[in-house]
Amino acid sequence: MNTAGTVGTVGPIAAEAARLFESAYGRTAGGVWAAPGRVNVIGEHTDYNEGFVLPMAIDRYTAVAAAPRTDGLLCVVSAAGDHRVTEIALSDLAPRVPHGWPAYPAGVAWALRGAGVLPSRFGGADLAFASTVPIGAGLSSSAALECSTGMALAAIADAEVRLSPAELARLSQYAENVYAGVPCGPLDQLSSVFGAEGGVLFIDTRSLEIAVHPFDLAVAELTLLVIDTGVSHDLGESGYPARRASCEKAAAVLGVQALRDLTTADLDRAAAQLDETTARRVRHVVTENERVERFVSLLKLGELTGPRLNAAGELLTASHASLRDDFEVSCDELDVVVDTALRAGAHGARMTGGGFGGSAIALVSLDRAERVTASVLDALPEAEIFQAVPARGAHRVA
Ligand code: ADP
Ligand code: MG
Repeated sequence: MNTAGTVGTVGPIAAEAARLFESAYGRTAGGVWAAPGRVNVIGEHTDYNEGFVLPMAIDRYTAVAAAPRTDGLLCVVSAAGDHRVTEIALSDLAPRVPHGWPAYPAGVAWALRGAGVLPSRFGGADLAFASTVPIGAGLSSSAALECSTGMALAAIADAEVRLSPAELARLSQYAENVYAGVPCGPLDQLSSVFGAEGGVLFIDTRSLEIAVHPFDLAVAELTLLVIDTGVSHDLGESGYPARRASCEKAAAVLGVQALRDLTTADLDRAAAQLDETTARRVRHVVTENERVERFVSLLKLGELTGPRLNAAGELLTASHASLRDDFEVSCDELDVVVDTALRAGAHGARMTGGGFGGSAIALVSLDRAERVTASVLDALPEAEIFQAVPARGAHRVA
């Protein structure tokens, strides 16, 4: 059990990755790269509908120590696993080979090679991972794993000029979609790559335009609690692909490119043309996009204090209700955590990430943080709670 506090900065976890590298491969790594997890402040299940999201990278990183090989093998080991090295021949790379977690770094190598970032003469790599991103908690450990891998591989292949940050995010998402078989949108990888210290990212997932907005909660005497319920989700197996498919079907029936193209004025038509469940899925996406835009308007007006703080909190809580009732991706534990945080004085709270377990966030005044933390732990003793600070995106550490 972990109470409010931050694990803080990338240094110690980068050092752990370097140590794991030495013990696994018997030599010193050529460098260490790191990519963060994220919380999505608002805008859930909108990214694969070409809509708006408002994430921030958090001060929890996956670090990878890496060095090139010359024999055509990609070797991976993770401190989160059993410390066994998995070897994959570059010539064998193909979607779903191998199974399990090594599919994520293997998928990135495959995507980078397919896009011509890694040259055909690329001789392979040894990679060792260590992470402070909770795994499977809806905080994007998978994107942190992919984006750190992509940076490291491009660097040790002297191919950094061929990998822009936007390409790193796109190819990492492609690897997760096609290689690991998880049909996620671009939210997680864009957050991990473009994360900015002290800022949230307002992303239009159609144009991929990103605007950074200052999000210094401490100035307004606020904090953002992240509450990991410990209920693990598996987005590949969960209702996630079904939700995505039903959104795509609804867009086709309604004659739009994506649900992003609808506004609340279209909801009556949606209700008339779609079955009741699908119409509710559409209502979630449409209202969620509007909530993101309203949240951003509040941020543009200045610090979240007074009526702006109340309005921002209400948007978060309304997002949760919509995800729970219309999109149906919450679960009992997330609902309990959100309700408890609100009753204990949070200004707003919602599940964050794909849902079906994972984490919630609560926007809380600093002087209420302890009370909210204690109440949530009382209601869900297995929860892990920490304060999230907007952090820097993927970068080279050493
Ligand atoms: P989330 O991204 O929300 O944490 P996902 O289900 O998308 O959850 O990704 C979790 C999976 O990513 C894990 O099951 C594991 O396969 C892989 N993974 C993430 N980080 C690591 C790590 N540091 N070491 C090994 N595997 C990892
Ligand atoms: Mg993930």
